[in-house]
Order: sequence, then structure tokens, then C-alpha cells
Amino acid sequence: MEKAYRYRVYPTAEQEQILRRTIGCVRLVFNKALAARTEAWYERQEKVDYVQSSAMLTQWKRLEDLQFLNEVSCVPLQQGLRHLQTAFTNFFAGRAKYPNFKKKRSGGSAEFTKSAFRWKNGQVYLAKCSQPLPIKWSRQLPKGCEPSTITVRLEPSGRWFVSLLLNDPADETLHSGDSAVGLDVGVSSLVSLSTGEKIANPKVFDKHYQKLRKAQKSLSRKQKGSRNRDKARLKVARIQAKISDARIDHTHKLTTRLIRENQTIVVEDLAVKNMVKNPKLARAISDAAWGELVRQLDYKALWYGRNLVKIDRWFPSSKRCGNCGHIVDKLPLNIREWDCPNCGTHHDRDINAAKNILAVGHTVAVCGASVRPDNHSVKGQLRKTRKGKKQKPKL
Ligand SMILES: [Zn+2]
Repeated sequence: MEKAYRYRVYPTAEQEQILRRTIGCVRLVFNKALAARTEAWYERQEKVDYVQSSAMLTQWKRLEDLQFLNEVSCVPLQQGLRHLQTAFTNFFAGRAKYPNFKKKRSGGSAEFTKSAFRWKNGQVYLAKCSQPLPIKWSRQLPKGCEPSTITVRLEPSGRWFVSLLLNDPADETLHSGDSAVGLDVGVSSLVSLSTGEKIANPKVFDKHYQKLRKAQKSLSRKQKGSRNRDKARLKVARIQAKISDARIDHTHKLTTRLIRENQTIVVEDLAVKNMVKNPKLARAISDAAWGELVRQLDYKALWYGRNLVKIDRWFPSSKRCGNCGHIVDKLPLNIREWDCPNCGTHHDRDINAAKNILAVGHTVAVCGASVRPDNHSVKGQLRKTRKGKKQKPKL
């Protein structure tokens, strides 16, 4: 199974110079190729593919004012063109927006395939670098594994990371059991479990947000192009990195725990991108990092031999009584607890939803069908959520 191991790197001054130059060249080549492809399409209705853009790169390297492209390893430049090709494929398939130009201030990365690095005595020697990369080995690589691809990334906060992609033959399947859990992702708490447990977002985020707001305000007052603006931008990036570290750490701990404890996990297949468009919910949802949570559950389930069941996101999990199946007409977001008008059961909104999700998950796992109850009008559901309905990007 292919896995990526990510580590912090502290490059030497010489290495940092080489890597910064490489990343700069990757960005330049990517942007030039993107501009060429855009122009070819809009002015001559011609499609440029990877092979053609690769031939362009060869031309550029011969130009007088682009001689510096020959000073860095050519592999990351080619890989950059491959990434551009993937971006276009995703765009034409309707999965993504039109590719954007890369910006210097958002950092960047360089991908080295096998021909551009050496792996010796557990050390990484990148092309054009004489010394091994000073990687902080925060965890061990699986025994006998060699990386097939190495990606060096510079974050906007100025931190360096390296990602080692390797094929891990070890089987990590956990003992299978029969425990199952339903998850309701929410705004007031990050997730509610069908077992009745609620997991909140760490409160420490609020403190970080106040700092972030202050730093962003300060940045907005700095003159464009000034040295002070760069400093202020770095400050903002550092706080953002801190927030994202804390969030990722929290999500990892939660998903690992859920995977270890349960054979089957049922979640709603939410369209996070659409929900973030709702301005009232945007921060809370991004904060909770729902998409990331499901993504982690997805690959960890695969690693450890667990089942992740995704159910139809139009299933009325909140409005359905978990006891008798009665569906109420309305249940505004501010109502956290309610009584079923049919059987009188008292419900916690999120826990009830999680229980419903688990119940549906069992049905899906058995018959493999997408579940949409008969007595629930699909039209009514769509009308209520019209704002978030559009899924395909406009072409
Ligand atoms: Zn009921």
C-alpha cells in the first residue's frame, strides 16, 4: 500500500538556496506553461498536452534569459508540468476549477522522482546537493522500505517539510469486531456519536483566532510592496500554521480512535464545499474540518481493514425520530433538543441524528443501496437547500 511519511526538514544554508531556486523555477515553468495553454485555447482553440508543454520547456531552456533553468534539477520542472496536466484533466472532467497561477507568497514544492535523489544509509541526497537532507525523523519508516518519490515543500510560514512516498507491504489489519458507530458532524460540537458521546472542538482555537484577527488587521494597514508588509504576512502565516497544526492533530487523534474502536463507521456524505458557501456556517464548518475528517477515516479504514459507509446526504437524519421513525416538518438549527410528537421520546438533536445515520448505515451495508425513504419528498429537501445545491462548476 502506498503511504506518505511527512517530516520537518532544516536545510543547510546552501541547500535552502538550491531548494528555493528550484521551487522558483518550478513555479515559473508551471506558470509559463499555464499561460501558453490558456493562450493557445482562447486565441487559436488549440489544446496543448503534456508532451507539447514538455517540448516548450526544452525551448525555454535554450533562451538566453532563461539560462538559470539549467542550473536546477530538471525532474521537479517536469513533475510540475505533469501536475499541470492533472489539473487540466480534472478541470475538463468537471471535478475542479480552471488551474490558477502559482504565487511566490504561498510557498511551493518540488517533487523529486527516483532519478533525482539517492537513498543511502537511511539518508536522502537530493540532486545538486552534496550533503544529505537534515530530516527530523519524528517517526520511523517501515523496515526495508525505500521512498519512490520525495516532495520538498516550503510553507508560507517559512517552514520546510519533506514527504516520502513509499510502498509499505506490511499488513496492518486490525482484529475485526462487530462494533459500529454513526457519526453526525455538527456545528455546536465537532462530531456526535451514536453512543451518546459528543466531541467538541478544542477551545484553544478561539485564542488563536483572536491573534490571527489582530495580525491580519495589522497586515492590511501595511503599504503594498514594503518590507514591513512581508514581515506582517509571515506573522499571519505563522499563526495560520499553528491553527492548522492543532486542527490536524486533533482530527488525527479522533479518527485513529474511531477506527481502532469500531469495525463499521457510518457518516453522511456531505458536500463540504457547498456548505462553506453558507456564510453563517462557513467558519464553524471550515473549523470543524469535516472534509478532512472524512478523508482521514477513508484511508485509515483502508489501512486497517475497517468499513466506512457513506450515506446519502439528503437523508433526513436530524428530523427523523430514531425511536418510531416519525419525520417532523421543521427543525430549525437553533433547536438542540426536541420531543417526538408521535411517540413522545425526548431527543438530543445531534445524538438522535447520529443514531439515525447508524441505522441507515446498517441498511446500506446489507443491501448496498442508496437510501432515500419513501415518505420523504426529495423535492422538498432540495428546495430547502437550494443555495448549496449546485455541485458542478460552470465550464
Ligand atoms: Zn417518535
